[in-house]
Amino acid sequence: MEKKNLDWGSLGFNYVQTDLRYVSNYKDGAWDEGCLTDQAVIPINECACVLQYAQTCFEGLKAYTTEDGKIVCFRPDLNAARMASSCARLQMPVFPEDRFVDAVVQTVRANAQWVPPYGSGATLYIRPYMFGSDAIIGVKPANEYQFRVFVTPVGPYFKGGIKPLTVRISDLDRAAPRGTGHVKAGLNYAMSLSNIVDAHEQGYDENVYLDSATRTHIEETGGANIIFIQGNKLVTPKSDTILPSITRRSLIHVAREYLGMEVEERPVELAEIGQFAECGLCGTAAVISPIGTIDDHGKLTHYAGMGPGIQKLYDTLTGIQMGRIPAPEGWIQVIGE
Ligand SMILES: *Cc1c(COP(=O)(O)O)cnc(C)c1O
Repeated sequence: MEKKNLDWGSLGFNYVQTDLRYVSNYKDGAWDEGCLTDQAVIPINECACVLQYAQTCFEGLKAYTTEDGKIVCFRPDLNAARMASSCARLQMPVFPEDRFVDAVVQTVRANAQWVPPYGSGATLYIRPYMFGSDAIIGVKPANEYQFRVFVTPVGPYFKGGIKPLTVRISDLDRAAPRGTGHVKAGLNYAMSLSNIVDAHEQGYDENVYLDSATRTHIEETGGANIIFIQGNKLVTPKSDTILPSITRRSLIHVAREYLGMEVEERPVELAEIGQFAECGLCGTAAVISPIGTIDDHGKLTHYAGMGPGIQKLYDTLTGIQMGRIPAPEGWIQVIGE
């Protein structure tokens, strides 16, 4: 198979339209059989529930080429399960989890020419999502939905080397107790946009959110979970309002089972962040981005950046993903050669 003629190493994290995407429609209480389409534009009613009341959720995962030339993706069953929980919270019909994985596989296969080659550092980002598509003016859930999967090639996250991030403790909150912080809803991102624009204007890479009930505990950033390392121990905040990152859950397994580290998942107080040697953000996009500094209103806490703990975790998880290190059962879904 001939690859597209792209300069893989210089791709950014931008939408590039690829050849085919998957679509399935929900109507009269049932999903249709679904198909691949070349139509990247979606005509919907002006009063569609997603446009008026933001009834939408999404997922994000990646496909890539392993050392031995296979196209694979990483734990898509967990994305399927997480989307099912997002749908339940947003009163949307679940797209069956086995069909979700099949739709991901079909979409990647249909765009195999867009999967970056091994060693390029680039990957194929996969975006499954769902939205209420029929006209709704009184506040209630839609009757009709569309589930879609598109893919877009994205460049290496750390272009020109890894630069530790500078983040700030946010004055705004991300998630309310008993709210929607634990599901991947578009609405969680809409309300974070002004804060991230402001953070960038002030010279920060990200906002670190506190628990909104007491503002004494660390939660996560707008789009990544947080890990701390001290000695042989990995500590990660536990809270009902944190989005359950698949990368974080995988790193916990890697820390325990591959690296013999101790792992604590527990509430982490803002007051204790100075006790850790390393800190990083974890998510599909970068796997782990090391943090250099957390700024809490002028009180600076410094970390080792890509220190030995984060480096080990990063090397082991990316080694598993790229097929250089044996993966736990079921982690790697082979899509093609
Ligand atoms: C998607 C997301 C993450 C990262 O989850 P992964 O499954 O590791 O990609 C973390 N926090 C938030 C708020 C997210 O939306």
